[in-house]
Amino acid sequence: MSAAAPTARAQEGTALYVHLPFCAAKCHYCDFFSVAGEGQDSAGMVAAILAEARARAPRAPRTVFLGGGTPSYLSVGELRDLLDGLQMVTNFRESAVEVTAECNPESLTLEKARLLRALGVDRVSIGFQSLRAEVLALFGRVHDADQSFRAFEHARTAGFERVNVDLIYAHPGQTPEAWQADLGRVLALGPEHLAAYNLSFEEETPFERWLAEGKLTALPEERELELFARTREMTSAAGLPAYEISNYARAGERCRHNLNYWRNGEYVGIGPSAASKVGFTRSGNPRSIALYRRAVEHGGFALAWSETPHAALRLAETWWLGLRLADGVEPDVARRTAGFAEETDVFEARAHELAAEGWLERRGRAFALSARGLPLADYLAKRFFELVDDAAS
Ligand code: SF4
Repeated sequence: MSAAAPTARAQEGTALYVHLPFCAAKCHYCDFFSVAGEGQDSAGMVAAILAEARARAPRAPRTVFLGGGTPSYLSVGELRDLLDGLQMVTNFRESAVEVTAECNPESLTLEKARLLRALGVDRVSIGFQSLRAEVLALFGRVHDADQSFRAFEHARTAGFERVNVDLIYAHPGQTPEAWQADLGRVLALGPEHLAAYNLSFEEETPFERWLAEGKLTALPEERELELFARTREMTSAAGLPAYEISNYARAGERCRHNLNYWRNGEYVGIGPSAASKVGFTRSGNPRSIALYRRAVEHGGFALAWSETPHAALRLAETWWLGLRLADGVEPDVARRTAGFAEETDVFEARAHELAAEGWLERRGRAFALSARGLPLADYLAKRFFELVDDAAS
């Protein structure tokens, strides 16, 4: 990684991500940059984020995503300051085709839901994660299932027609029957979008430690695969087919902001720890509230790192991200995205090989994971990355 340097403002229309780092409490599986918000200066954080936005947020973003952390943890006044401030800098209320706010059940009151809607947010993503008290306790979540259902209702009452529910499955001890029952209850609510991630044991989380100490046992892989297959069947039957490995949506309800990530598009991230990709350069802010604030308060920039991968690596990444999508990857689009101008494209040749082996299949001009390749997405991505050194030399 090279030394940090302020980058030029991204082009008009670039996607904007805003990271709010406070939560009611820290969940035991979570490795996002976030801290328990009690005693923190959240108003000061909003002011710092707006200072960074003035320095480098894109004008007229096509999508905006407030993530974290828990944006709904902010007070009504802070949310108003944040969204009105972003409007002054970017005019997103005129330009954006989608404005999402991540919310948690304990803090999405009807008042906040109405306020978010009035301030230009048109999509909320609610972190249910589980409906079971013992699982929520294991996860370190601070809400119960009733609060999750109430938050969903608040979103509808406030006029949100685009609601995502987040769930985590494949936790220790989960049976297919229990998952089927919970997923069925969530689908019965009629969300437009569902994100169902299988539990992963991330570095430096309590979950990773408990696994190493034998206090938790991961589900056997066959069970995980069974739950994954059941998820796809049930979401499909409910009219939300998978469009990405872990994301399911009704027609027209795919998350446009996240689609841009999976297509390896450009985006500007502001707030502590937020990453950006502008041109072919990736960069990120410090994972520290103090460092972040100190930096933005002196000029609006807080870059902790930046790097510009070479074209072969960019192309491998474009395949890795794009193969997560049901629509797959079109080789010439991938080359354009990555700025890869070599005459021989070994990555396209690798896609043909993997298709011949049955891991990928053709969808028009695109290559997509086949039913057989779907559970092996990470392994198949490695088959692209292993080409990088030769392609770059
Ligand atoms: S609420 Fe979300 S961001 Fe916050 S600790 Fe839990 S999982 Fe992480």
